[in-house]
Amino acid sequence: MNVSLAAKLYQEGLTLREVGAMVRRTPAAVLFALRKAGIPRRPNCNPAWVRDYPRVEVTCASCGRKFKRRQFHYLYGGGTRSKPNPPRERFCSSVCEAWGSRRRAAERASRTTVIEVTYR
Ligand SMILES: [Zn+2]
Repeated sequence: MNVSLAAKLYQEGLTLREVGAMVRRTPAAVLFALRKAGIPRRPNCNPAWVRDYPRVEVTCASCGRKFKRRQFHYLYGGGTRSKPNPPRERFCSSVCEAWGSRRRAAERASRTTVIEVTYR
């Protein structure tokens, strides 16, 4: 593939699909070549989506990584309203969620008072 041509077309404002049609490659192949050449991908989204569905930066409750979520899901975290526990939307991945629920279970177990009743 002519990477310099693809880069020039992409930087002139054509989409990956259009560039791919010009250089006879798939958009994914064009993206890969451009990334290898150090050309960043343009933010590919409709401004109306950004306006209607703003995103917020969230810190994962388990691993502390920062990621972005739709604001709606952040505010109404999957319908989970259990207060001391972070809702599902505060975790970056299902692995972190499982880890968080494990930790929560351990914390809950430490808070629980066990009463033994013996019947005679
Ligand atoms: Zn995480």
